Amino acid sequence: MKIGVLALQGAFAEHIAMLRRLGVQAVEVRKAEQLADLDGLIIPGGESTTIGKLAVDFNLMEPLIDFGETRPVWGTCAGAIFLSNDARREQPLLGLMDITVERNAFGRQVESFEADLDVPALEGPPFHAVFIRAPLIEKVSGDAQVVSQLADGRIVAAQQGHLLATSFHPELTNDSRFHEYFLKLIEQR
Ligand code: GLN
Repeated sequence: MKIGVLALQGAFAEHIAMLRRLGVQAVEVRKAEQLADLDGLIIPGGESTTIGKLAVDFNLMEPLIDFGETRPVWGTCAGAIFLSNDARREQPLLGLMDITVERNAFGRQVESFEADLDVPALEGPPFHAVFIRAPLIEKVSGDAQVVSQLADGRIVAAQQGHLLATSFHPELTNDSRFHEYFLKLIEQR
């Protein structure tokens, strides 16, 4: 199995480290040709406007959309925004998932927080999640489904078939269960 991590901007190195720790071949992706032999792709956290702008500049929008139509893609934080079809403002989006996101829903950098999440799809204890200027998944529609919610019901993870979006950063913890969950999505295909 070979997984790519979009490496235009943001926390791509942490995802690569986690994947390698799980014994998976992981590579940085900056060009469309590099998508060809990948089984899945992770779009990291960072700044979604920057990632989008660079993806446009590097002619990656169409290749990424084509990739995500058939192969598993997981977006974390800014990556989740980039996967969405509505961020309630003008910015380049892949539009692959039927989710509406609200950027910076929890406030500024200083309002970053951690929370123990109930994730029915994962076995074991609650998932300790790190939120950094995180988006909220305001609405899931179409085939998209809720994967996890905060205690107050706000949605922070969603899935649509082979596409996964989390508004937090599993790559910044030692808990690899979300990465393993993504690997399972790939194996199921
Ligand atoms: N606030 C960023 C954005 O709107 C996301 C932050 C993150 O990825 N940690 O794109």
